[in-house]
Amino acid sequence: MATDYYAVLGVRRDAGQDEIKKAFRRLARELHPDVNPDPKTQERFKEINAAYEVLSDPAKKQVYDLGGDPLSSQGGAGAGGFGAGFGNFSDIMDAFFGQSQQRGPRSRTRRGQDAMIRLDIELDEAAFGTTKDLQVDTAVTCGTCSGEGAAPGTAAQTCDMCRGRGEVSQVTRSFLGQVMTSRPCPQCQGFGTVVPTPCPECAGDGRVRSRRTLTVKIPAGVDNGTRIQLAGEGEVGPGGGPAGDLYVEIRELPHPTFQRRGDDLHCTVTIPMTAASLGTKCPLETLDGMEEIDVRPGTQSGQSIPLHQRGVTHLRGGGRGDLIVHVEVITPNKLDAAQEDLLRQLAKLRGEERPTGHFQPGQQGLFSRLKDAFNGR
Ligand SMILES: [Zn+2]
Ligand SMILES: [Zn+2]
Repeated sequence: MATDYYAVLGVRRDAGQDEIKKAFRRLARELHPDVNPDPKTQERFKEINAAYEVLSDPAKKQVYDLGGDPLSSQGGAGAGGFGAGFGNFSDIMDAFFGQSQQRGPRSRTRRGQDAMIRLDIELDEAAFGTTKDLQVDTAVTCGTCSGEGAAPGTAAQTCDMCRGRGEVSQVTRSFLGQVMTSRPCPQCQGFGTVVPTPCPECAGDGRVRSRRTLTVKIPAGVDNGTRIQLAGEGEVGPGGGPAGDLYVEIRELPHPTFQRRGDDLHCTVTIPMTAASLGTKCPLETLDGMEEIDVRPGTQSGQSIPLHQRGVTHLRGGGRGDLIVHVEVITPNKLDAAQEDLLRQLAKLRGEERPTGHFQPGQQGLFSRLKDAFNGR
C-alpha cells in the first residue's frame, strides 16, 4: 500500500465521517494552490484530495480498509491520479464558502423607506399640544395590480432562463477539474419570475405616488427638532411590501415676546426709573391670557420676576416650566429744565448730590441684585 490516507488527513483509523470531513476542510483551506502555489504544497493538496475521496466514500473506504487501493482499481492508467473520479467538488466549495450561503430567488417584496416632513408650529401649540392636518406625498400600493406589478388578468411567470432559481451557474474547467460560479439571473434580475405584461398604472413597481391628508396629534412639550414617529405611514415598499415609518419633525416658529429655553420662557420688560422706584403693574399677554406683572417698589435693573407654571408643558411627566420676566430700568435722559430741577431736589433730599459710587471687585453688583431677587427685593 503506497499511501496511508488516514495519516495524510491526520485522523485516527476509527475517525467518523464528521471528523474526516473537518480535517479535509481544514487542510483544503490551508493547502489550496490559490493560497499556496508552491509545487510541494500542490502535491500535498492532491494527496489530501485523494485521501478524502477514498475515506469519505463508504464503498471506497471499505476497499481501502481491507488492503486494496480503490483509486487504482477504478482508474486504470491514471491510478492514484488526481483528476480521475474527482467527486468531491462541492466539499471543496463548502470548505471555502461555507454551507450556510443563502441560495434561491430574492423576493420582489421589500419594506418601504421611511419618510420625513417638517412641520412649523407656534409656541402655544408646542406648549399645549395640538392636532394638525398634514399633506403627505408618499408611495402607496397600486390599486390596479394590488402591488403585484402584473397587468390585470396576467400574472408573473417563472423565469425560463434560471427556472425560478434566480441565479445562473457557469462551469469552467480548471486544474481542479471544474469551477462553478453563480450569479444573479440576468433575465429576471434574481427574482426567479418575470412579469411579461407590467401593470400600466405603476409600470410593474407595484406602487404609485399619492397625496393624502393625515391628521397628526402633536403632544404638548415638543421642541425644535422633536421627531414624531408615525409607524407605517411612510413609503410603501416595492412589490406591495410593508410601508416604512413617517417622521414629523417639529420646527417651532419664533414668538414676538417670548424666548424658549428648555421648558421655561423668558422675556424682558423695560420700565422707567420712576416706576422701578415707585412700583407699577404691567399687563402681559402670556400663553394663558392677560396677566398683570407686579413690579414692586424699588425694583432694580436686572432683577427678574418669575411666573411659576406659565411656561411650556413638560413633554414627559406633568407640570410646566416657568415664565421669567427680566426687568430693565430705563434711566431718564433729555431732561427739560423742570424735570432736572425736580431730580436735583430729590438728590438733595436723599443726600445724593455728590455720590462717589461704591466700588467692589468683580461683578458684585450683579450678584447682589440676584441675591435681592431671591430675597424678594
Ligand atoms: Zn400596478
Ligand atoms: Zn431568471
